[in-house]
Amino acid sequence: MRFDIATLFPNMCESVLSESIVGRGRKNNCFTLYCHNIRDYSDDKHRRVDDYPYGGGMGMVMQPQPIYACYQGICEQSGSKPHVIYLSPQGKRLTQQKCHELASMEHIMLLCGHYEGVDERILEEIVDEEISIGDYVLTGGELGAMVIVDSVCRLLPNVLASNECFMEESLSDNLLEYPQYTRPPVWNGKEVPSVLLSGHHANIVKWRNEQRYQRTKEKRPDLLCDSNKTNDI
Ligand code: SAM
Repeated sequence: MRFDIATLFPNMCESVLSESIVGRGRKNNCFTLYCHNIRDYSDDKHRRVDDYPYGGGMGMVMQPQPIYACYQGICEQSGSKPHVIYLSPQGKRLTQQKCHELASMEHIMLLCGHYEGVDERILEEIVDEEISIGDYVLTGGELGAMVIVDSVCRLLPNVLASNECFMEESLSDNLLEYPQYTRPPVWNGKEVPSVLLSGHHANIVKWRNEQRYQRTKEKRPDLLCDSNKTNDI
């Protein structure tokens, strides 16, 4: 799988996505990732990428020309047309199900806006979908792009030590994960639940399943009545 991030701040994405599990997955060629500076594609002699909004108002708007040239460069370089996602507070909220859907794609381009966002015509011309990482407004799309790369690439083969890591984890089936414990068996007077030390596999599975339902009911009851959700993808 290939990711291309189109941004005004490639170093921001590059540094974060070179670390930890994502960085290791990249080094091991589990997926490829390229960060492109939209400014490099501007045909303005001062490498300008934004201008004042028509109709007046505060802030600046990212111009379509450098973004389109960046998109074309990515298409030429890769020899494929990417699925283009614009990070936007106006998009549908990202969910774990959506991450699984994206993980089955061959090539994704993530377009990061800044200032007041991008010229509407670039959305019409190249963007396949808009995704929001939550109901709040960020200064730019980079954090959202990094969230998507992180949450999608860990679903790809060989990025995590074992695929089982995400089979039972939170949100995989609209349930939260069971509580986790490690050594020591008693810490600050608190004991690890005895069933986990029993070595009885069937009882452990039963206990964990019960815990998954119980804590979802306590912490995220909305997940149990998921059919009411309409704005998530
Ligand atoms: N004027 C825009 C609006 O009201 O819809 C907001 C622009 S925001 C200040 C600048 C950029 O940050 C956006 O173009 C988008 O790429 C990114 N962004 C902001 N909030 C986001 C969110 N919740 N999820 C994903 N991207 C977001």
